[in-house]
Amino acid sequence: MYDILIIGAGPAGLTAALYARRADKQVLVLEKETFGGQITYSPKVENYPGTLEMSGSAFGEQLLEQVLSQGAEVELEEVQSVALQADGTFLVQTDCQSHEARSVIVAAGSKHRQLGLDHENQWIGNGIYYCAVCDGAFQAGQEVAVIGGGNTALQDAVFLSQICKKVHILQDLPYLTGEKRLADQLLQKENVTVTTSTVVQTLLGQDHLTGLELRNTQTGEVSRLSVSGAFVAIGQVPENEPFSNLAQLDARGYFAAGEDCLTKTKGLFVAGDCRAKQVRQITTACGDGAVAALAACRYVDSL
Ligand SMILES: Cc1cc2nc3c(=O)[nH]c(=O)nc-3n(C[C@H](O)[C@H](O)[C@H](O)COP(=O)(O)OP(=O)(O)OC[C@H]3O[C@@H](n4cnc5c(N)ncnc54)[C@H](O)[C@@H]3O)c2cc1C
Repeated sequence: MYDILIIGAGPAGLTAALYARRADKQVLVLEKETFGGQITYSPKVENYPGTLEMSGSAFGEQLLEQVLSQGAEVELEEVQSVALQADGTFLVQTDCQSHEARSVIVAAGSKHRQLGLDHENQWIGNGIYYCAVCDGAFQAGQEVAVIGGGNTALQDAVFLSQICKKVHILQDLPYLTGEKRLADQLLQKENVTVTTSTVVQTLLGQDHLTGLELRNTQTGEVSRLSVSGAFVAIGQVPENEPFSNLAQLDARGYFAAGEDCLTKTKGLFVAGDCRAKQVRQITTACGDGAVAALAACRYVDSL
């Protein structure tokens, strides 16, 4: 029986493990894909306090090493369900076995919704980006596209318009869905164009992005746009469904928990990008990890 079982080895889950181990709890971390979480896709992290610059994978590796050195167990297993047992402990079923724990922290993150086009995964960091604030600097002075028309896309476009030569906003709907204030701000900028009713149907290039093939959804007309970067901002997808029996989800599928990381189920905590919040960054994920771990430690000590 573990004191604290953590689902997800991204910044939130690994930080939770660090704090829980330092409080001398028996800790198991389960990760289904990549130790380090989604930040491992980023070639360069420049906004984590105390580090001038490092790759996302180096950040993930170092955090994992730190957690292992503190004595946490970390395994590659996909959690499929979490059940509350009659004695108040949790039964966690993975793709290969089950584990029991006194408390559980879900730090399952969220994924950027992808376009689903050929080369998209290979060119992440090489012309395909999902975070303008994080990766915009790689395209400074260049001509880029922002794919999407909601608030995230418009905020990305505002940010990119300050550092890029030209920014093309491409929206599949006939209108932008983001705030009017942002749209008005963008329409006044000389280096920003807005193209609605348009989808990207092909990513062009040999080993990195050099352009986009576009299709007008109303006329069917196909055209090409030369850009060296495309920032995809078509939403986030949380993967919280397996845990929704014990923790309330909001309308968008995120855990409806506040800064205290508490859920409606005693002993179950949520942390990081999987939680409803405004800012999804490493700093906020690590902050949640620490808060959730200390709450879980207090809970275990109270049993
Ligand atoms: C390309 C890119 C660049 C970025 N750049 C920056 C940056 O420069 N600075 C910054 O601050 N932020 C950046 N971010 C955002 C940052 O990566 C996230 O905010 C942060 O990783 C969130 O941490 P997390 O632990 O909450 O979630 P995640 O990092 O998403 O980790 C969650 C983990 O849980 C695992 N998991 C999910 N479901 C299960 C399951 N059922 N069983 C087991 N494991 C499961 C996932 O595989 C994943 O590894 C970037 C994101 C991307 C994609």
